[in-house]
Amino acid sequence: MQLTENQPREHVILVRYGEIALKGLNRHTFIDMLVKNIRNTLGHFESVDVKKVQGRIVVHVSDVELSAGMEAVSRVFGVVSLSPATVVPSEMAAVEPVVREEADKAPFDSFKVCVKRSDKRFPMKSPDIARHLGGVVLKHYDGQGKKVKMKGADREIWVEIREQTYVYSEFIKGRGGLPVGCSGKAALLLSGGIDSPVAGYMMAKRGIRPIAVYFHSFPFTSDRAKEKVIDLAKILTQYTGRMSLYVVPFTDIQTKIVEVCPERQTTLIIRRFMMRIAEKIAEQNGALSLITGESLGQVASQTQEGLAATGDVVAMPVLRPLIGMDKQEIVEIAQDIGTFETSILPYEDCCTIFVPKHPETRPQLDKIRAGEAAMMAEAEAMIANAVAKAEVVRL
Ligand code: ATP
Ligand code: MG
Repeated sequence: MQLTENQPREHVILVRYGEIALKGLNRHTFIDMLVKNIRNTLGHFESVDVKKVQGRIVVHVSDVELSAGMEAVSRVFGVVSLSPATVVPSEMAAVEPVVREEADKAPFDSFKVCVKRSDKRFPMKSPDIARHLGGVVLKHYDGQGKKVKMKGADREIWVEIREQTYVYSEFIKGRGGLPVGCSGKAALLLSGGIDSPVAGYMMAKRGIRPIAVYFHSFPFTSDRAKEKVIDLAKILTQYTGRMSLYVVPFTDIQTKIVEVCPERQTTLIIRRFMMRIAEKIAEQNGALSLITGESLGQVASQTQEGLAATGDVVAMPVLRPLIGMDKQEIVEIAQDIGTFETSILPYEDCCTIFVPKHPETRPQLDKIRAGEAAMMAEAEAMIANAVAKAEVVRL
């Protein structure tokens, strides 16, 4: 079929995933999950078609939504890279004009045509096709001094011959990782700070589907503080897909802790109650771990002893992906993923309201347990009540 210059071109997004990431995972589960997540992220687009094609995923969206589609797909974990490509039938006469058009898209002095032929029914061999198409480009720019360069060319024009042929020259980096969902669910303790959204992002990158849990101490923390956490969770959904946020009423528990427990220990005891409640919500949702934004030594409660004290009250593993990171590294990720600007909005945090003047930095477990004793008669009922009254925001 001869394609004329005026005929409309069909554009797609060609998605590559990491073969290395497939190790140890069921290949089909990985790819099916990735296809599903790409489909979901484009759920609000006017027309979407996502299909598996021999080691690639091909995404069709309308031309007007192509660049928004690229943006959205680049945030899906498991995607290693993507390219906007033009699709033509696998026939030389159809490929040639599109290769010329691809060359015209950006200026260059030197170029190279790279060919990948998965469809062995195509009669020519890859090096011959590359040479032929290189000749087509040279002729197109006849007399302009364009050069073929095998290494370090200004432009690489790629031609992938599959059931159809894909022509492209642009590579956009994806975020790698594993498709969200293939590592199961975990409850993310999401505050309005810088750290916990980054922690959620990092575990989602390893295939975890987070359920967010936020402890709200109204009126000590305002509704704007809650809105801020909802906004952060919304930003995270660009990477995680749909997510539920549990807003747990925490005022009674927090007030009581401040009333009956030793002042030096309040921060840690508050955190212990958060862990207990988050674990209950995790269990209800079939989640297997808890995620926090703790980083070793960042604040008084995040010493090794502090971590032991907060981890002490739950049986589930506590995932702390930021544990070995500096604040600056965390800030850079927050900026990259788009949560930073929201995180630094000044609305108060329930932990900063009752900060003890001299917090315990080397808490001994038995002392913390003793300090908490005054809470324990009512603890179970208070925890059950907080879980029952949690508001679920679906994002
Ligand atoms: P962040 O920047 O995430 O707020 P932080 O450096 O302020 O963390 P802490 O206040 O000690 O640290 O809290 C440690 C972790 O406990 C947080 O990363 C978060 O996972 C959890 N957490 C703290 N406060 C809340 C809250 N109000 N709701 C839910 N989780 C919380
Ligand atoms: Mg905080």
